[in-house]
Amino acid sequence: MHTGRHFLQIPGPTNVPDRVLHAMAAPTIDHRGPEFAALALRILEAIKQVFGTVSPIVIYPASGTGAWEAALVNTLSPGDRVLSFETGHFATLWQDMARGLGLDVDFVPGDWRHGVAPQTVEEKLAADTSRSIKAVCVVHNETSTGVTSRVPEIRRAIDAAGHPALLLVDTISSLGSIDYQHDEWGVDVTVAGSQKGLMLPPGLSFNAVSAKALEASRTATLPKSFWNWKPIIEANKNGFFPYTPATNLLYGLDEALRMLEAEGLPAVFARHARHAEATRAAVRAWGLEVLCADEREYSGSLTAVLMPEGHDADKVREIILERFDMSLGTGLGRLAGRVFRIGHLGHFNDLTLAGALAGAQMGLQLAGTPIDPVGVDAALDVLRRD
Ligand SMILES: *Cc1c(COP(=O)(O)O)cnc(C)c1O
Repeated sequence: MHTGRHFLQIPGPTNVPDRVLHAMAAPTIDHRGPEFAALALRILEAIKQVFGTVSPIVIYPASGTGAWEAALVNTLSPGDRVLSFETGHFATLWQDMARGLGLDVDFVPGDWRHGVAPQTVEEKLAADTSRSIKAVCVVHNETSTGVTSRVPEIRRAIDAAGHPALLLVDTISSLGSIDYQHDEWGVDVTVAGSQKGLMLPPGLSFNAVSAKALEASRTATLPKSFWNWKPIIEANKNGFFPYTPATNLLYGLDEALRMLEAEGLPAVFARHARHAEATRAAVRAWGLEVLCADEREYSGSLTAVLMPEGHDADKVREIILERFDMSLGTGLGRLAGRVFRIGHLGHFNDLTLAGALAGAQMGLQLAGTPIDPVGVDAALDVLRRD
């Protein structure tokens, strides 16, 4: 029997603020009526800021995976070459999908501890003298590893190679948590989801679409119907959708956007960076290792903690769930049992972090992990600073 609130400290879905829950608990309205149109027009405009764009944002009633598919089928044709990078589990799934859709994927192997190397992007594109690569796919924040790729440097690498490939970026676990600028960074399609930094339940996903991507969509021939941008962008002009939208999730999104705007995106990003720093301080004080191997690529939204050899991360997670009613992220793919992940994104504050780290520390001790139990103190030292 657990009392109080469950600690949902996985890197998505994240804790949904009461304000958002209350906003969603309203009667569903006619999605072809004027009240809905006003809501949709407001959201479609306000959400552009979060992506750092003036381009249209397409909203799907789907998980993030749907928006991955939308990004590919709207811009590419069967047999097109795509360059992608094995940064972790999500990058692997995205390239699996690209292959499944009939694309020819050049998947650059990785060690799951580093982000996309801009140098490799430049080399691969420079070598593609026939310009057969049509898109570069990058996962901005690899949620399986806690590594954030440097998208502006990747953009510069594409430009340095003078290559026309589209840049498609998955920001599902970074949007609204880690600095991101769709326009300034020259991204063509940004893929996002509702259940991480946007503080909503799962069920919405997004494509931010550059003018170049829109142009590519006019000739792309991969089969598409539900995901087709064209009828959606057309209907959105008047605040409508070609099919029934997820009305109540949009109520929640409207409220979440208000919350992000009130805090201010720079403050939101700084808050996440600070909580990430405090978390890494705890991990190091325990004598454990942060999975991310390059300090330029530390994630602001989650930290993956590497367990000592012979100690099972899932055993620690199991004890923490049973004893302290907290969920931590499991190791995905090849990291199963090797890491646990602490989500510190979304609706979150200093004491949520202190509680989460206290639970993690006690769980590590109870599981017999050889740690120095001073991680929480090290994190509090960071949190006490301004
Ligand atoms: C969560 C996540 C996904 C998958 O999104 P779903 O909503 O589960 O389909 C893809 N990429 C990244 C980086 C993620 O964090």
